Amino acid sequence: MRITDKLAQHQTFSAEVFPPKGELPLEQAYEIAGGIAADRPDWISVTYSAGGTGNSRNTIPIAASIENDFGTTALAHLTCMGTVREDVDAYVKELGTYGIQNLLALRGDRRPGVEQRDFVHASDMISYLRSSGSDLCIGAACYPEGHVESPSEEGDFEGLLAKQDAGADFLVTQLFFNNEDFYRFRERLLRHRVKLPVVVGIMPFTSVKQIQRMAFNCGASIPARVVKRLVRAGDDPEAQAQAGIEYACEQILDLAANGVDGIHVYSMNKPRVAHAVHEALASVGYFEG
Ligand code: FAD
Repeated sequence: MRITDKLAQHQTFSAEVFPPKGELPLEQAYEIAGGIAADRPDWISVTYSAGGTGNSRNTIPIAASIENDFGTTALAHLTCMGTVREDVDAYVKELGTYGIQNLLALRGDRRPGVEQRDFVHASDMISYLRSSGSDLCIGAACYPEGHVESPSEEGDFEGLLAKQDAGADFLVTQLFFNNEDFYRFRERLLRHRVKLPVVVGIMPFTSVKQIQRMAFNCGASIPARVVKRLVRAGDDPEAQAQAGIEYACEQILDLAANGVDGIHVYSMNKPRVAHAVHEALASVGYFEG
């Protein structure tokens, strides 16, 4: 099913998986996806390693399993890095083979030795898809605190307008820890004529190291109240993970009450993390609306 059809019906709940590295990656991924699918999310997204590195060849098989084995809508990511038009054509054809109707078009993370080829920005890939007649439901990324490389706020909004004008159907945000940043961003989107539905991406942090790495990579600011919770959790990994899940649940309950279009969990391949968010939402009747 197209994600925009779901967004038109209700506030959505979805989660992300990534193809795990190492031995037996597919079996692990199927188990993780199956664990998340058990909660009947509106969709599960599957990341793509920029430039076709890592286990990006497994993005479509995992998405296909989500769609056809678990009966859950899949959103397959694809990046511009190292990608040429023929790669996009082949990818879209393969998605069609498995009945996958949703694609998240991204520039991709920068990796040493991998350059952009036929597509510089996500909007270029979206334009290409539309000009070649694709009727996929296409999502794109957005950044409530601004993209790390963006020289100005205005530039960021122009980039988002370019994605909308190119034919994107919806946006998914980068993770953030302060909901006020998102509410300000939502207002500014409208002022900049970006009218696409926006799904908020929330990452329940699971350790001090992980939150530091994510904040550095994507430029998300860490509020003092998050730091205090981590300090209170001390060195105990389980207490740190629990603090992250509790904080994320508080964040998403506030977002749900403030009428966001959908909630997407960066569950870091941990079904129990997605499940905790699902339970928190269920406790306030999110799925009954
Ligand atoms: P772009 O839209 O190209 O934006 C990059 C920069 O260029 C921004 O500063 C923007 O303001 C500017 N810009 C955008 N369009 C234009 C334009 N038309 N003209 C001029 N400037 C422009 N990375 C992966 O490698 N694999 C994944 O699976 C993956 N999944 C992600 C999922 C989500 C929901 C998010 C938020 C990010 C994901 N990323 C992933 C990370 C993403 O690839 C990086 O954040 C990357 O740095 C930017 O991607 P983008 O699609 O926003 O790029």
